[in-house]
Amino acid sequence: MLRNVLPYTEQHYARALVMPNIDPPVVTVNDVLRYRDEIAVAQTTSFLPLMTIKITPWTTPATVIATRDAGVVAGKLYPEGVTTGADVGGVSDFRAMWPVFRAMEDTDMVLCLHGELPSSSVLDRENAFLPELRDIAEGFPRLRIVLEHVSTAAAVDAVRSLENVSATITAHHLLLTIDDLLSDRGLQPHHYCKPVVKTSHDRDVLIEAAVTGDRNFFFGSDSAPHSREKKEADCAPAGVFSSPVAMSILAAIFEQAGALSALEGFTSEFGAQFYGLPLTTGHLELRRETWTVPRTYGRLVPLCAGTELFWRVVE
Ligand SMILES: [Zn+2]
Repeated sequence: MLRNVLPYTEQHYARALVMPNIDPPVVTVNDVLRYRDEIAVAQTTSFLPLMTIKITPWTTPATVIATRDAGVVAGKLYPEGVTTGADVGGVSDFRAMWPVFRAMEDTDMVLCLHGELPSSSVLDRENAFLPELRDIAEGFPRLRIVLEHVSTAAAVDAVRSLENVSATITAHHLLLTIDDLLSDRGLQPHHYCKPVVKTSHDRDVLIEAAVTGDRNFFFGSDSAPHSREKKEADCAPAGVFSSPVAMSILAAIFEQAGALSALEGFTSEFGAQFYGLPLTTGHLELRRETWTVPRTYGRLVPLCAGTELFWRVVE
């Protein structure tokens, strides 16, 4: 899968935050080094993988220090049971993690949160997580936190109200609503991700947060490939494969909002600044040109498969 999808990431992105919820998950220094080597073998450009570890109930402050020394930039925490790989190593007792958060704060390791509480109904899970977010953010005011792939208006409000919290937004959460998942034409498994896409009001608030140039909101693709056989089955895993199309989709959304000039900040500057990275010197050229997204890339069905998009990345 890595060899299948890395070319599409490398084509459009100079670097990526590499999420740790693979099987088996990335939890130790050895896991990080092995995964980074696997990426190095598969990559063909100067693409820079920014490594993460999964923060599990068994993560210790010593693990944080050791992995930070090995170059890890962030730890991602998944509440128990909410998404791919969160059955094992998901967290249910956030207060028990405070020594780990303290170590992350002290070593300036970013805390990335999959912000959903599984005890609520699926549409309410992100909002139910917001009090936990506030508790962590206020408990560790120097800890830099990213609420990943925000999906609701309430989460956007919460991010704005917390000084040490930023958020990523995906292309699919800016594009789709629940009606595109549970569509009149039928169930669309390729639109199924966690957190699930929400109402048109939520989407409008996300678009507003993205296009206004608020540097607390930046692009995170959350591109999550699963094979067509697995997605078109009786129990489809969550995840949208978006890396080949996300830039085209974003350009159209920003154009429609009259905010094309804000696209560069959202995709290329605010995230880098948050992570304290120098801006990349390369350029990505987008041209206003209609193209039809392939129905598949190998065994993967991309977001917007078979449909026309109106911006194209110049290869
Ligand atoms: Zn996630």
